[in-house]
Amino acid sequence: MSASDWEAVVGVEVHLQLATESKMFCGCPVRFGAPPNTLVCPVCLALPGALPVPNALAIRHAIRVALALGCSIHRESRFDRKNYFYPDLPKGYQISQFDRPFGYDGALELPSTSAFAGHRIRIRRVHLEEDTGKLIHDADPRQSVVDLNRAGTPLVEIVTEPDLRDADEVYDYLRELHLTLSYLGVSDCDLEKGSMRCEPNVSVRRRGATELGTKTEVKNLNSFRHVRDAMRYEVTRQIELIESGGSVVQETRSWNPETGRTAAMRAKEEAHDYRYFPEPDIAPITTSEAELDAIRSELGESPAARRARYLETLGLPSEHADVFLHDPAMAALFDATVAEGADAKAVAPWIVGDLQRERNERAERNASTDVLAIAPASLARLLALVADGTLSTALAREVLTAVLDSGESPDRIVEERDLAQISSADALTPAIEAAIEANPRAVEDIRAGNDKAIGALVGHVMRTTKGKANPALVNQSLRERILGA
Ligand code: ADP
Ligand code: MG
Ligand code: ZN
Repeated sequence: MSASDWEAVVGVEVHLQLATESKMFCGCPVRFGAPPNTLVCPVCLALPGALPVPNALAIRHAIRVALALGCSIHRESRFDRKNYFYPDLPKGYQISQFDRPFGYDGALELPSTSAFAGHRIRIRRVHLEEDTGKLIHDADPRQSVVDLNRAGTPLVEIVTEPDLRDADEVYDYLRELHLTLSYLGVSDCDLEKGSMRCEPNVSVRRRGATELGTKTEVKNLNSFRHVRDAMRYEVTRQIELIESGGSVVQETRSWNPETGRTAAMRAKEEAHDYRYFPEPDIAPITTSEAELDAIRSELGESPAARRARYLETLGLPSEHADVFLHDPAMAALFDATVAEGADAKAVAPWIVGDLQRERNERAERNASTDVLAIAPASLARLLALVADGTLSTALAREVLTAVLDSGESPDRIVEERDLAQISSADALTPAIEAAIEANPRAVEDIRAGNDKAIGALVGHVMRTTKGKANPALVNQSLRERILGA
């Protein structure tokens, strides 16, 4: 059999660390990089008698994530204890959620820009839990030590149905999920800091089969590329294993990006091994319809809606739409400038191209100007001056730089520097005549049919007008005078 006789089946679990001030069940600060075991208290250290108090903001954030992913919300949600032993888990159980997660039955649709456009990846659940501490294996040569600063940090877990079939599809799902989450303001979504960790569950089955195969779970990947590579590797490994007469063992595996392989970590626990039971120290969490409405009303525009608005309603090319989708500050300036009446397709390249160039150039010389703080009305006015022929594109760039440097309005700068483009034939006449007088050879060449010779004359006019002449008009006027056309 060949690989094409097989189908890969994947469901993904994502852990998102929430950007709250304090931990999930105590008042300790959530902070990355503090000295070990300095952000701890009796609750997150699991000292006897300490009681957890749920973080209301974390709950709001979790519901926000669930709503953004189209989930239904359990109006009465509950925390449960998930029991297992591990040295980074001081209580001997993790407070998580079992059968009453905040969100369930949602979906995320892959974007029109994906090769899998329109695929709806069903979201099985969105629940809230606490993070564990961290074992450190290289701090002491004789033993592993534990840092409990992270213990009790709020995490939202987002679990899909096994709806994904292709490594690139998984990659696109994760990118769209990341974008969607980053719009919510609930997390820094920083993969490098471990704020978003991905775990693909992978199985294979013969094409046409409806039963799911035995899955393996690849733990804790903090790069979408690693997820894609690990999944590809797992699929091939599982197919080869089955074809050579073996069978897949349900287990947790780790990915080694150096070797490009996964390796078995531990046999996978079944849910009943965790002896889930309701957390007796926390009452069920009820969310009223009014609270849900309030959270809903704060959601803002989703990336999917924004993408449709930019691509379909405003007709932006996808490279501009994509920049705005991923850069909220640029998008805000773009939207505000369009709201000032500027033409969307004309504004976009000024922001993506010219302003971005000004931004880079200023960053290089450590200038503190925030180019995106330009008044939207100024930018709109600049574009209007280009549209009505007052400014050439080149002069408009010069005005833009001056607007950014001085904060003055474009009109003011045009006036101060006398920059308005000369767009009336009459005003150009002296410069045109001077150019003809000074270049008799070029004039003869043009009359003899050498069209290119006009360049010298145009150049002359541009020099004497300090670049302010409208080049198209100069061209036309020269031809009329020389050829009588
Ligand atoms: P576990 O108890 O091992 O965490 P779950 O049934 O809760 O397993 O599912 C975890 C994730 O694995 C979900 O995203 C789910 O869609 C996915 N999944 C479950 N079974 C399979 C399978 N046979 N193949 C691929 N993915 C699967
Ligand atoms: Mg799992
Ligand atoms: Zn604490």
